[in-house]
Amino acid sequence: MDWHGFLQARPQAYLGRGAADRRVLALTFDDGPGRATPALLDALRELDVRASFFCVGAAMRAQPAFVQRLLDEGHELGNHSERHADARGIEAGQWMREEVEPTAEALAAAARDRPVAAAPLFRPAYGELDAAQFDALAAAGYVVVGWSVDPRDWLEPDAPGYVSCVVESVLARIHPGAIVLLHDGDDESGGARHGIVEIVRRLVPALRNQGYGLVRAGELMAAAGAGRTTAIS
Ligand SMILES: [Zn+2]
Repeated sequence: MDWHGFLQARPQAYLGRGAADRRVLALTFDDGPGRATPALLDALRELDVRASFFCVGAAMRAQPAFVQRLLDEGHELGNHSERHADARGIEAGQWMREEVEPTAEALAAAARDRPVAAAPLFRPAYGELDAAQFDALAAAGYVVVGWSVDPRDWLEPDAPGYVSCVVESVLARIHPGAIVLLHDGDDESGGARHGIVEIVRRLVPALRNQGYGLVRAGELMAAAGAGRTTAIS
């Protein structure tokens, strides 16, 4: 579909990048929490970075301690669906009930009395979302968060030079207001994504050397004024 035209008509409910006039960016981590998440959190704490995690409901229930730690350490949590189902072909109401609302309840239960973001954040699995699903999310108050930098960190994590390749890919594409797509959750065959830890340890100092500040995706929203339209798939 024509995401650009579609999203331009719905700027309040979509964030694809922040404003271009501030040298800040957001690191976002999808599919977790997973087995690599504790070591990633150690690295983020050492580096003094707060990031955004788009969590899968089923993974949150399997790893409740990780979720509490994410919140305790100041990270932002968004909804990345209940089972990471491909949304194509699922009727919007059914999809909200099965894939969005259970994870929203799990996020609310985990957050308890902690302050929550101004608007709940949602990132679609595989970037797949049809117009009716998008409108259902918007009607429920969600902001759909896309990305503007995708280093494809999920691709061939065992290949030689993988970490350098991902880091260089981000550095080649980075821009003010960037939303960087990364993954900390286990892969689809259950493998841990340990490489993310070294990626972050190398990426954060390199980004700071270029003068970038690191913020949570929700903090880019106010700066963007409204959503910016960058295709999400
Ligand atoms: Zn995902």
